[in-house]
Amino acid sequence: MKTLSTVVFFVISVFFVQNVYSHHLGEEEFPSYADLSSEDASNWFCKKADREPCPDLLHFDISYEKLSSYHFSKHCPSVAKACAVVSVKNKSCVVYSKRSSNTTNSTILHEVNHCYGWQHKTAYESSHDKPWKVFKALVPFVNKGAI
Ligand SMILES: [Zn+2]
Repeated sequence: MKTLSTVVFFVISVFFVQNVYSHHLGEEEFPSYADLSSEDASNWFCKKADREPCPDLLHFDISYEKLSSYHFSKHCPSVAKACAVVSVKNKSCVVYSKRSSNTTNSTILHEVNHCYGWQHKTAYESSHDKPWKVFKALVPFVNKGAI
């Protein structure tokens, strides 16, 4: 699972350098388990990311692809059940899951929260919770109001 986060993080970092675009969070209501009140987005958190949707910081188009193990491993670490690949360039996020593995709603929710711009503290399964923070690579852009 360590590799999984690295991949997602890497993809985000790469595209961010090339494409900064304007987007404002607007007047959305945020759930009580998330706190976006700090001036610095590195202090934002989402406490229930394992069970509830976090605020969508990106508003990207999200699509879902269930793939054979072979094709899955072209996009995600083969040990993962699912992964999210975020492309800032395309303003999209693809959630890939493995056809052979039992993909539950909570697995998908987990990946969708990555698509929303959130990341768990560590890459290990046991530490997926609490709270999730904004992807490090996104923080400077959120702070500048560029996203
Ligand atoms: Zn994850």
